[in-house]
Amino acid sequence: MAVSVDFLVLGGGVAGLSYALRAARAGTVAVLTKRARHESNTNYAQGGIAAVLSPLDSPELHVQDTLTAGAGLCNRSVVDVTVRDGPQRVKELVTLGAEFARRPNGEFELTREGGHSERRVVHAGDITGREVERALLAAADEQKNITIRPDASAIDLILDRRAPVNGNARCLGAYVLLEDGRIETYLGKVTVLATGGAGKVYLCTTNPDVATGDGVAMAYRAGARIANMEFYQFHPTCLYHPEAKSFLLSEALRGEGGKLRLRTGQPFMSRYHPQAELAPRDIVARAIDAELKRTGDECVFLDMTHLGRAFVTNRFPNIYATCKAFGVDMAVQPIPVVPAAHYMCGGVVADQDGRTSVRGLYAIGEVSCTGLHGANRLASNSLLEGLVFGPRAAAATIEEAASVKPLEQEPPEWNPGAAVDSDESVVVTHNWDEIRRLMWNYVGIVRTDKRLMRARRRLELLREEIRDYYWRFKVTRDVIELRNIADVAALIVECASRRKESRGLHYTLDYPNRDDHNWSQDTVVSRAP
Ligand SMILES: Cc1cc2nc3c(=O)[nH]c(=O)nc-3n(C[C@H](O)[C@H](O)[C@H](O)COP(=O)(O)OP(=O)(O)OC[C@H]3O[C@@H](n4cnc5c(N)ncnc54)[C@H](O)[C@@H]3O)c2cc1C
Repeated sequence: MAVSVDFLVLGGGVAGLSYALRAARAGTVAVLTKRARHESNTNYAQGGIAAVLSPLDSPELHVQDTLTAGAGLCNRSVVDVTVRDGPQRVKELVTLGAEFARRPNGEFELTREGGHSERRVVHAGDITGREVERALLAAADEQKNITIRPDASAIDLILDRRAPVNGNARCLGAYVLLEDGRIETYLGKVTVLATGGAGKVYLCTTNPDVATGDGVAMAYRAGARIANMEFYQFHPTCLYHPEAKSFLLSEALRGEGGKLRLRTGQPFMSRYHPQAELAPRDIVARAIDAELKRTGDECVFLDMTHLGRAFVTNRFPNIYATCKAFGVDMAVQPIPVVPAAHYMCGGVVADQDGRTSVRGLYAIGEVSCTGLHGANRLASNSLLEGLVFGPRAAAATIEEAASVKPLEQEPPEWNPGAAVDSDESVVVTHNWDEIRRLMWNYVGIVRTDKRLMRARRRLELLREEIRDYYWRFKVTRDVIELRNIADVAALIVECASRRKESRGLHYTLDYPNRDDHNWSQDTVVSRAP
C-alpha cells in the first residue's frame, strides 16, 4: 500500500524544509532525506546568506552584482524577486530561532564576499549552514503535519501515463528505497524536488556524499527540461590534504584579507583580475588551475597569518579547528588549497514558483534552474534561493493541490522483475571512480572539444554497462547514485559540447571568448518521457 500525502518533498535542506514549513499550513507533508535528516549541502555552508539588510546597501546593487556574476544569462525578473523577498525570509528564519552574528548594537554583522559590492552576507561564524539546518529542522519538528523520513532514497519519479494532457503525463510521486531494502511507493498531489547539487560527479568536491544529482537525473528520465548544466562552479579553495575529504575554506577568508600565494610565497591573483583575491570565484579557480598547470605544483596556499591568531580563531573557529586537526595552524602557516566542484548553476528548468515542464512536479533550491544564477552564481545567493523559492513554491502548490482529484487507481508497485543480489559490486566502485576522474580531467575547469568528445565516448560505454547492471541486480543506494552521476555527467557533457563560447563558468580553449551574438541563451536538453 502506497504512502499518500498532500505534498511530497524529496530533500530536507534549506529549500525542502522552507517549503515544507509553508505547505504544512495547508496539508500533510512528507520530507524524504537520503541519509541522516540533516545531511545536505545546506548543513556544510560556511559563509552565509546574501540579503540587503544594511542602510548602506540597496536592492539595485544586489541585483546588479547578481547580474554581473551571471554573465548575461540571468533572468532579470527572477533576480528581482529573489533580492526583494530575501531580507524578509532571513528575518523569518531568525523568528524560527536561527542565531546569526550581531554587532554590539544588535544589528546583523554583515560580511563581504567576492563579487559583492557591499557587505551583505549574514552569517553564523563559519557554520551558517549548520545553524540554518538546525533551526529549520527544529521548526519542522513542531509541525504535526510534517513527517521527516531519513534513509529514504527516491529512485525514480512515477508518471501517470494513462492520462497525459497534450502528451504531458502528471507526476504522481516516487519509488523510494528504504534502509532495509524495501521499495515503497510515495504519492503526493504534488511532488517537489529539493535534492540539491551533484558535486559527487567530480573527483574533488566540497559537497557531502548525498550530492549525486539525483533530482536532475530523475527529472531528466521523466522527460523534464534540464538547462545550463555546463555551468558548474568550482570553489577555488578546498583544503589540500590526503585525509581531508572535501573540506571547504570559505570565500569569507579571502573577504577578510586572506592572500593566495604560490609555494615560493609569491602572490599571483592581481595578475588575473583587478579585484585580486575578491575576483569572482570562476576567475580565482581558473587562476589557481593555471598556476598549478604552469608550476607543476599540487596546491597553492591561502595565507591568513598577517591577520593574527585572535582574529582567525574568533572569526573562523570551525575552519581553524579543522585545519589544526589536519596539522595546519592557520594563524602561523599558510593553508594548502586546491579548487573543487562546488555548486550546480544549471538544473531542472523551473519558473518563479518552482514549476517544471512536468505537470505536478516542482523543483526548488540547487536542483532547479530558475535563471537566478545565469552562467555563474554570486557567492551566498544559494541559501537565499532556498529560503525564497521554498515559500513561493509552497504558495503555488497549495493552490494546485486544491484542484487535484484523488487517484481512481494507485500506480503499480515497484516491480523488481528478475533482479537478484549482485555478485560483482566491483562494477559499481570501479565505474564510480572512473566517471568522477574522467569528469575531473576532461570536463573540469578548462575544457576543449576534444576532451569533451573523449568524455562523451567513455560515458556512453559506462552508461550502457550501468543500465545493464541496474536491471539485472536488486537496487541499492550505491547503484542508484552511480546511475544518477552517470546521467548527470552525460548532461554536463552534452550542454558543454553545445556551447561554442566561453562564458561565466564554462571556459573552453577552443572558443575562449564570449559570443553574445550567438550564445546569449540557455542550453536546454530534454528527452521524450
Ligand atoms: C561546503 C559548502 C559550503 C557552502 N557555503 C555556502 C554559503 O556560504 N552560502 C550559500 O548561499 N551557499 C553555500 N553553499 C551552497 C549551499 O549550501 C547549497 O546550494 C544549498 O544549501 C542547497 O540547498 P538545497 O536545499 O537545494 O539542497 P541540499 O541542502 O543539498 O539538500 C538536499 C537534500 O536532498 C536529499 N536528497 C538528495 N537526493 C535524494 C534522493 N534521491 N531521495 C531523497 N532525498 C534526496 C538530501 O538527503 C538532502 O536532504 C555551500 C555548499 C557547500 C557544499
